[in-house]
Amino acid sequence: MRIDNETKLDFEDILIRPKRSTLGSRKEVQLERTFSFIHSGRKWTGIPIITSNMDASGTFEMAKALSQHKMITALHKFYSIDQLKEFFKDFHNPDYVTYTLGIRDEDFEKLQKVLEAGLGDKFNFIVLDVPNAYLQRFVFKLEELRKLCPTHTIIAGNVVTNEMAEELILRGADIVKIGIGSGSVCTTRRKTGVGYPQISAIIECSDAAHGITNSKPGVGLIMADGGVVHTCDFGKAFCAGADFVMSGSLFSGYLQSGGEIIERNGKKFKQYYGMSSAKAQEKYYGGVFKHRASEGRYTEVPFKGDVNEFILDLFGSLRSTGTYIGARTLKEFSKRTTFILVNRQLNTSNEKYETKN
Ligand code: 5GP
Repeated sequence: MRIDNETKLDFEDILIRPKRSTLGSRKEVQLERTFSFIHSGRKWTGIPIITSNMDASGTFEMAKALSQHKMITALHKFYSIDQLKEFFKDFHNPDYVTYTLGIRDEDFEKLQKVLEAGLGDKFNFIVLDVPNAYLQRFVFKLEELRKLCPTHTIIAGNVVTNEMAEELILRGADIVKIGIGSGSVCTTRRKTGVGYPQISAIIECSDAAHGITNSKPGVGLIMADGGVVHTCDFGKAFCAGADFVMSGSLFSGYLQSGGEIIERNGKKFKQYYGMSSAKAQEKYYGGVFKHRASEGRYTEVPFKGDVNEFILDLFGSLRSTGTYIGARTLKEFSKRTTFILVNRQLNTSNEKYETKN
């Protein structure tokens, strides 16, 4: 046994110190970034915020809405090939949508069929996603996927430590997904005791990934996944060094999110649940596997209307973060950041009286 004595930090443990700035207005803050990917060789421009590949947030409807803002939707893996074919007839923004798969043989067989159906050029990103990417089998599957799809940009995870972020990039990932136990409907920490506070994971993994180059332009990149509770957390993640930030909960409850609207006592809700929750295992696999505990929660979130409204608010918040620290571009956020450790992040005393303005 060994103890690492350094305290690791989460979103709520820090705030961003304001800095003198020459920016005239928040309109001057540029949120678009351009990346070159070290394995796929592709170049991408957009706003590097991405919805989780969960059935509440990674929907066709979300992709149609978010692609208009140059944001990416990670489609969940439960769409059938026929549904994908139908969707891609009218959706022609491969830079803003991902295909998702896990490491089971069935996942790879389905991908093979998707490619044979001619859908391979409809999405430029592929997410290879498991809750625990430390498994050797995951690394082998990543190498297999890289051979199968040499020009797709591969997002692989999840891990939370620098050595494994490096390993996944060296084995074929363009972007490593960072986050274990950080998700709002995740119960991994409660059940297993395993996890890593997200801000420290982002700082440590981005530092490792950004040091990796090969013969192509660009460096290894990271995507912070899970734990974003307020819009400020997107800003904090970019300040900590995240290249992309993924969220499920902030894209749940909208018109474009998955699931039916539930009405109770005159109020509207939508479901949001973990993809390893008992609810998801029952829905997609016909029950909870005997060897596997549910590591996800089931929740119902208030119905929030059209996601486009939220996006404008989110962009405004991020631009404002940039103005406070004097960053003209999203790329500059981490260079201009000093975090301060805090005991109290927000003043919540009036939240119970809040009305929607
Ligand atoms: P959120 O934005 O809600 O904080 O986190 C979303 C992320 O939680 C997802 O992108 C995914 O990485 C993770 N996640 C989704 N479902 C589950 C689950 O059932 N169990 C665990 N451990 N993590 C989950």
